Amino acid sequence: MKEKKWQKFTVQSVILLAVVLAVSIFQQGGLVRESGKRVMADGTAVLEETKEPEEIQEVQSVKSVKSDITHIKKRSSTYIEIQKSMITTGAGIYLYDNYINSEVCMVIDGMTQKNFLKNGIIRYNRGDKFIGNANYKNKQDIVESIDIISAKTKDGLYKTEVKIKTKRLYAPELYETDDSYYISLAVPKNIYDKIVVIDAGHGGIDEGTKSFRGHYEKDYNLMVLKELKNLLDTSDNIKAYYTRLSDEKVSKVARTSLANNLDADLFISIHCNSSEYGNGEPYGVEALYSKRKPRNSRLENKKLAEILLDNVAEKVNSKKRGVIRREGLYIMHHSKVPASIIEIGYMSNKSDLKYIIKKSGQKKAAEGIYNGILEALG
Ligand SMILES: [Zn+2]
Repeated sequence: MKEKKWQKFTVQSVILLAVVLAVSIFQQGGLVRESGKRVMADGTAVLEETKEPEEIQEVQSVKSVKSDITHIKKRSSTYIEIQKSMITTGAGIYLYDNYINSEVCMVIDGMTQKNFLKNGIIRYNRGDKFIGNANYKNKQDIVESIDIISAKTKDGLYKTEVKIKTKRLYAPELYETDDSYYISLAVPKNIYDKIVVIDAGHGGIDEGTKSFRGHYEKDYNLMVLKELKNLLDTSDNIKAYYTRLSDEKVSKVARTSLANNLDADLFISIHCNSSEYGNGEPYGVEALYSKRKPRNSRLENKKLAEILLDNVAEKVNSKKRGVIRREGLYIMHHSKVPASIIEIGYMSNKSDLKYIIKKSGQKKAAEGIYNGILEALG
């Protein structure tokens, strides 16, 4: 993908630099960032569009709360008001939660940013009120930056994105009154019963291990994560966050910070194993843990590892190799919440590789992790 983009870029820049600049400005705010299912203000879903790169974004529809902000205030004393007087269209308005970057993005279909003023974006935080640009000096201003970007979509329509980067991680929700839209910013732990963070190991240029037949670990970790997401999405009382949903490099710091900042109940990292030595032909499931004590949980890392090991080994029907203490790994060492790395099988072993690369096998591994999550959350 990267090579193609560069080629395109080079050709375009030879033609006319100005055109390239204009195109890249549009792309930054527009098509490239589109991701996932879009739900419009009236609740209807829009067909998925082909796009890249896929980002970690969740889409939320507007919740109509007509002329009543007591409900919004009750949800959280931290919220953002966006005045309707600036919005010249009745087309789709929706929210993206780009949580890995602590960024919430409100998208308004059918208009450019001409009418949009930062002064119409008001932040409320426990009684304090901030208007206009982000106030760096005052810690009470929850916003780190506000960017308003307009772009032309491929069907020739305009749309405006209001990107609001917050100083900490919130669970944004979009509400509406007669005069304004409101983005409620609750602390995730305050509104979700249980929070789990699921990590697909490696990604992007970090390929992980490689099978003797040329399969990259990063791809299979992600496939298992997506199967697990299908299961978790049906759960009402578990809120799941994902460190990546596409083939991208995410730093260990970002992965671990997500779990820590959410004060997650569980942090589970999906990996595949491999072995250099051929004779022993190791195969089966392992779960890794650290002796470190989680901050706010009675669940010990070792116990979580045991639960995951039991459930995954049972589902994939391979050997239960055991739980292994590993203190040197970054995410295990820096996680303040119960964490475990589950190694679903050995890519260096023929029979393990069979289920790792098959969709049915990935489903089994995901079911095992899902059952483990339910057991660990008790
Ligand atoms: Zn790995």
